[in-house]
Amino acid sequence: MSSFDVDLFVIGGGSGGVRAARIAANYGAKVMLAEEDRLGGTCVIRGCVPKKLMVYASRFADDFHDAEGFGWNIGETRFDWATLIRNKDKEIDRLESIYRANLEKAGVEIVDSRAVIEDAHTVRLLKSGARIRARYILVAAGAHPTLEPAIPGGELGITSNEVFHLESLPKRILVVGGGYIAVEFAGVFAGLGSEVTLLHRGDKLLRGFDDDVREALGEAYIQRGINVALNRTVTQLAKTSDGIAATLSDGSVLTVDQALVATGRRPNTKGLGLENAGIAVDEVGAIPVDGYSQTIIPSIYAVGDITNRVNLTPVAIREGHAFADTVFGAKPTIVDHDLIPTAVFSTPEIGVIGCGEAVARAVYGEIDVYKTAFRPMKATLSGGKDRVFMKLIVDKATDKVVGVHIMGHDAGEMIQLAGIAVTMGATKADFDRTVAVHPTAAEELVTMRTPVVVKKPVAVG
Ligand code: NDP
Repeated sequence: MSSFDVDLFVIGGGSGGVRAARIAANYGAKVMLAEEDRLGGTCVIRGCVPKKLMVYASRFADDFHDAEGFGWNIGETRFDWATLIRNKDKEIDRLESIYRANLEKAGVEIVDSRAVIEDAHTVRLLKSGARIRARYILVAAGAHPTLEPAIPGGELGITSNEVFHLESLPKRILVVGGGYIAVEFAGVFAGLGSEVTLLHRGDKLLRGFDDDVREALGEAYIQRGINVALNRTVTQLAKTSDGIAATLSDGSVLTVDQALVATGRRPNTKGLGLENAGIAVDEVGAIPVDGYSQTIIPSIYAVGDITNRVNLTPVAIREGHAFADTVFGAKPTIVDHDLIPTAVFSTPEIGVIGCGEAVARAVYGEIDVYKTAFRPMKATLSGGKDRVFMKLIVDKATDKVVGVHIMGHDAGEMIQLAGIAVTMGATKADFDRTVAVHPTAAEELVTMRTPVVVKKPVAVG
């Protein structure tokens, strides 16, 4: 008889954990999953899904404005924050119950409790005190946003956890950070009518993205009325009779109703008992794993944000699935973290696959760069100010397209499809022989013919 209560114990019911649990159960494993909060994790409960619903809400302002040029008389419009939050919460409840039902359908036993590791095969459920012996343990407990760096009054700030439950739409909001979360919420609040200051310590938003895209988004945000404050940090927050006074590193003081801090996320490894099993976390608190998501303890695996590899929902899902295939499906699977399409739901939206120009030059040496920036057709009648930007990067030696960068309406949808071609190893010649779909914005991806001439630096001496 087995000395284990279950074949697999999953800690965390987010995207990675749920996928792993379901697939392992489908392979016939006896699976138990513990979640201390709500099933669905960051993505469903306080991330991608509610964020996208808020992004949709924020874009109606553009639609109402655009409609006039097409002959529509919309009349007075009014946005009601409470309705949005109520409807969003209803949808999140629905999705959470689907997650629960799908796990149950797969035969996974769900425990609504925090779970702590006691040794390489034992997990303790804090609610009941029960100890579960597991052949394998999968840690998929995710990450959390922080109020870092610590500053006087820093606790007056909110993170992306609280932003989904504000009682009212802030009239004035300071958003700190220049990454995904900061630019997305700056766009959301600007669209909903708040006065937004986006404060970033760097000289361009979205570090790690192609420089042209970073500049284009900064310009688009300024054009949209967002106060983009670069090369600055916030040094203090203080409560005043008029709201929150934020002191900036240039000495200026900004008074706002909310300060959203989006300066990064940290893995949820504290108090998980990893040390009891002999697992040390890295300098940011993440669990080191190999290509199969296995830790240095053979019975313990980890997937998703807690491993701080590529912190995106579809990647966690991939990692969870690959873990189940490897351990329970006799199909050892390594997740390729190289070519991952991604979208930033700023307004205008950004879609990217592959590398930016600077990285491509370093990796491939000789490259061709194709760029276009244009006014989308809809803007001709609507008078909309956003432009579309597209950029292709081609490795000269192989003609392979190694980077696609899009900023504009539906860039996320476009990059998912362009991503198939790039993942398949499409060449520029493949793009060129693809017939354009007319009239669309996406057709520009297959009609760019002339590479940008790059001025070579003049040799000195
Ligand atoms: P990011 O790592 O993307 O961005 C953090 C931002 O905060 C950066 O601009 C960074 O500046 C800045 N920052 C960090 N430390 C400090 C500091 N001490 N003082 C001032 N500024 C600081 O984190 P996010 O929180 O935005 O998002 C976390 C992750 O979640 C993302 O990386 C992404 O993987 C995922 N995500 C994905 C989304 C999507 O797919 N659409 C949406 C939301 C999140 P600098 O650039 O100089 O380091």
